Amino acid sequence: MRRKIVAGNWKMNGTRQIAKDLAVGVSAIVEGLDKSVEVLIAPPFILMADVVAQISSDVNLASQNVSGFDNGAFTGEVSADMLVGFGCSYSIVGHSERRALFGDTNEVVSAKVAKCIDKNIQPILCVGETLEERESGKIFEVVGSQLRAALKGLSQVQLGKVVIAYEPVWAIGTGKTATPEQAQEVHEFIRREIAVIDKAVSDVISIIYGGSVNAGNAKNLFAMADIDGGLIGGASLKLEEFEVICKAIG
Ligand code: PEP
Repeated sequence: MRRKIVAGNWKMNGTRQIAKDLAVGVSAIVEGLDKSVEVLIAPPFILMADVVAQISSDVNLASQNVSGFDNGAFTGEVSADMLVGFGCSYSIVGHSERRALFGDTNEVVSAKVAKCIDKNIQPILCVGETLEERESGKIFEVVGSQLRAALKGLSQVQLGKVVIAYEPVWAIGTGKTATPEQAQEVHEFIRREIAVIDKAVSDVISIIYGGSVNAGNAKNLFAMADIDGGLIGGASLKLEEFEVICKAIG
């Protein structure tokens, strides 16, 4: 069965106090939700301890990034083992901001996906095209190659642990959301691509949408056949809005 997931990506926002308040607020939101919905929050690494101290056991902790290496001389990086120590069960991997600003190539993303799976963290693999790529008709070529590179070599069991986030780059933080039809078209394509690798997994893998999801558009996006939830940036920092989004999937 496909899991319904709403994940809040706080990006580089907040302070210790803001993070604590948000964590308490999200826990209260989750208490009122149908248990079939999984809610995740991805705070900045350094605020994780504060968040862990506040969240209820129904809120899942995610990281915004993870190292593809085990440990050692990698200044500034955070390992999967360190995240597991905080109870982190998901990690966003290959977010477009990481790809564009921090050199996360398809190869780097692939190593991070593999490391997550090895350490029992579920990777949320982000894929998506830029506006230029969309306008030049390359959506499926770009998304397909990002998927194939990141998932190469995974067994059926390993593939089953991955969550895919379709995040068109032009819709992230811009206020320009993909229409439900535009998003559905790519989600359907992603599910078909997964089916080429493994049909059984394609029936159960969760594919979530990210890109300016808000209280006003969430319901229509989540109503589409292949959209199993959302990866929420800006709106995850506003509790009232995040609550409406979480309820929109129920
Ligand atoms: C994101 O950070 O993954 C994201 C989708 O951001 P926003 O919702 O702000 O567009």
